[in-house]
Amino acid sequence: MSQPTRKQQFESLFPKEPSFRFKQIQKGLFSDAESWKDLTSLPAQMRESLEAIPWMSVRKEQVLISGNGDTHKALLMVEGEKEIETVLMKNPRGSWTICVSSQIGCAMRCGFCATGKMGLTRSLIADEIIDQYRFWQEYLTAHPELSQHISNIVFMGMGEPLANYENVRETLNTILEYTDIGRTRMTVSTVGVLPRLEQILTDDQWPHVRLAVSLHSAVASTRKQIVPTSYDEFLPKLEAWCHAYLEKFGNRRHHLTFEYVMLKGVNDTPLHAQALAKFVKRIGKVRVNLIPYNLTGVEFECSTPKAIEAFVKHLKSNGVTTTTRKTMGDDIAAACGQLIVLKKQ
Ligand code: SAH
Repeated sequence: MSQPTRKQQFESLFPKEPSFRFKQIQKGLFSDAESWKDLTSLPAQMRESLEAIPWMSVRKEQVLISGNGDTHKALLMVEGEKEIETVLMKNPRGSWTICVSSQIGCAMRCGFCATGKMGLTRSLIADEIIDQYRFWQEYLTAHPELSQHISNIVFMGMGEPLANYENVRETLNTILEYTDIGRTRMTVSTVGVLPRLEQILTDDQWPHVRLAVSLHSAVASTRKQIVPTSYDEFLPKLEAWCHAYLEKFGNRRHHLTFEYVMLKGVNDTPLHAQALAKFVKRIGKVRVNLIPYNLTGVEFECSTPKAIEAFVKHLKSNGVTTTTRKTMGDDIAAACGQLIVLKKQ
């Protein structure tokens, strides 16, 4: 059983309040108020009773800042004295992108990912994901020397967002409603949970934010080796899903992204590049985002710059839009796949 949500707590404290009240509260949570006391649009007595509900569902344990100041990683405590991580990264527009966790740990067990090695403790409730945004908002207010604007959110922290579908959907809808972040500035990254991807096709509550699928190989045997949740029919099924998705939602601004972690000698050979180019070309509006592997253990190494260059060249010469992700925060273990709860040193 998961802990009660803020809404449930509110409803049990004030069973007779009209529904606009909770909206007013949500609005207050995203304002520059620092506690229930600051929500002066609410009746004084209500403000007092609200003290029974925690203002924040996450508590700061530690913040690490990368040497160049572009990446800040926070270790936060959630219900049950469990730790999660969230990251604030400078983006090319000079605003911030936040990377949020959707679960404590992860059940997907991808061999190259540090979070995968932890196993799953539990999924986060929407309040706990939303409060990662609110945490960074408060952090920026306390650091007026930093740019104050969070412009993007990526669901690339700990956990598999589509294994926590309802809470992630609620988070997306809440953030869309109460902040200025639009759909094209939110990205949900998934290992490719097909039943949930199918659900997105017909779910009118699902906001059409950007989706990134962690493909990592278009060769079935290689994918199975590094992404253990993969199975024989995964690639053809994913391909069919991509066609259906793009037919329904694809337009000039709406495309899909395949993420591809570059692992030396594992998925970076010319054969893998060919398979990927073919796969993408059959689908159409897909971009490939290559992620240099960040060290998490001894089993894998990052592809050499030369191998990455050759891989990119092959994709581009086949007309595949390809970008290579800039690694950020590796000096504080805040880069992709390094989010594991590090004990305080
Ligand atoms: N569960 C989601 C989010 C994972 S994190 C998913 O699977 O998409 C975001 C991306 O970082 C994923 O593509 C993930 O596979 C990748 N990643 C994980 N560990 C990594 C590592 N050590 N180096 C580089 N990328 C990694």
